[in-house]
Amino acid sequence: MSPMRNITILGATGSIGLSTLDVIRRHPDRFSVHALAANTRVAEMAALCREFQPSCAVMADAKAADALAATLSDLPHITVLQGEAGLCEVASAAEVDTVMAAIVGAAGLPPTLSAVRAGKRVLLANKEALVMSGQLFMDAVAESGAELLPIDSEHNAIFQCMPADRVRDPGGAGITRILLTASGGPFREHSQDELRSVSPAQACAHPNWSMGQKISVDSATLMNKGLELIEACWLFNTDPSRIEVHVHPESIIHSMVEYADGSVLAQLGSPDMRTPIANGLAWPERIDAGVAPLDLFAIGRFHFERPDLDRFPCLQLAADAFKAGGTAPAVLNAANEEAVAAFLAGNLGFTDIPVIIRQVLAATDVVPAASFETIFAKDAEARRLAREQIRLLVV
Ligand code: NDP
Repeated sequence: MSPMRNITILGATGSIGLSTLDVIRRHPDRFSVHALAANTRVAEMAALCREFQPSCAVMADAKAADALAATLSDLPHITVLQGEAGLCEVASAAEVDTVMAAIVGAAGLPPTLSAVRAGKRVLLANKEALVMSGQLFMDAVAESGAELLPIDSEHNAIFQCMPADRVRDPGGAGITRILLTASGGPFREHSQDELRSVSPAQACAHPNWSMGQKISVDSATLMNKGLELIEACWLFNTDPSRIEVHVHPESIIHSMVEYADGSVLAQLGSPDMRTPIANGLAWPERIDAGVAPLDLFAIGRFHFERPDLDRFPCLQLAADAFKAGGTAPAVLNAANEEAVAAFLAGNLGFTDIPVIIRQVLAATDVVPAASFETIFAKDAEARRLAREQIRLLVV
């Protein structure tokens, strides 16, 4: 029998958080929930606490934490915590062996790092944390002996196609290339002119995946693939010259690994995040994820094309930021978060997102990412610059 795993879910109310809880719900004999954490959505959090009965619930937002504590006053065994300190506490608690890192954006870095430093099994969905802090993050993993398992469907696919003990040594394993697949997003066939007028609602209507708003917009601009390119470089100890993005609109092949003998291993599945989540939760075992079996006869055909970097420049901006190194990926990420938030709020056009990111990257000097403090300082500087540029563009 497998040992019971006690889990903290950071970002419990989000798309990944809810999919994680759906897998956990199917296996009460394997998983128990130590803590759930979110930001502001009190009613959703209260309902999850009533169902999963965690020992702790954290709201990053202080007012939301007070409201949650009041709502759960009839459940005194649930301790309600707040703020970044509360997130870090439940991510590193001694009772916890597994942490799902599924907060969206840079806000996820401190608690994810806390889980890493405490040597947990860390299921990494929050790609922004790794993009921002790359080498420092991987050094922390190596120092603590944390078990870092990728949840992004592409990276989980690559992980499944590699020998488990050679993930950090792909060359030694005879791996020549990683073929990173991309759906192409909802605007794959839009002209540059059409892209100018797309709305947040259109950008969030992904053809294959149901996801949170920020990653949906990132998928539409192809910044998501850019962030994933950087994520893959760190996770698999490689560089962009060995990674080729393949647009595959069906989103059935989640990525591929090419070997020196010409073999190409692929991982396939329905576009449902419960597959990589279940893979990470139970690894190296396999458990039911509640995902419908793949019907290749119904799908019929697979298509592949190269990404169009003229219409979707964010992918190239990310590759360039990785090449520039140091704090450049953290600046890219922060500028993107600000631009996407402005687009979602109706204050910025879709095609202005890469314009803002390019301007912020050009206005910021790249310094070595010597410490997390340096990274957080650059993140703050980039956000300030991005907000200024957005204001100028809107006026
Ligand atoms: P959602 O927007 O659906 O959920 C985000 C979660 O993070 C919510 O629980 C939210 O709480 C919480 N949150 C937001 N801000 C903070 C904060 N400052 N402090 C603490 N918690 C916060 O996002 P997704 O689930 O779609 O994505 C989560 C991460 O997983 C992202 O990094 C994304 O790139 C990655 N990912 C997602 C995939 C998907 O299919 N959705 C696929 C692969 C990767 P509240 O509800 O209270 O606001």
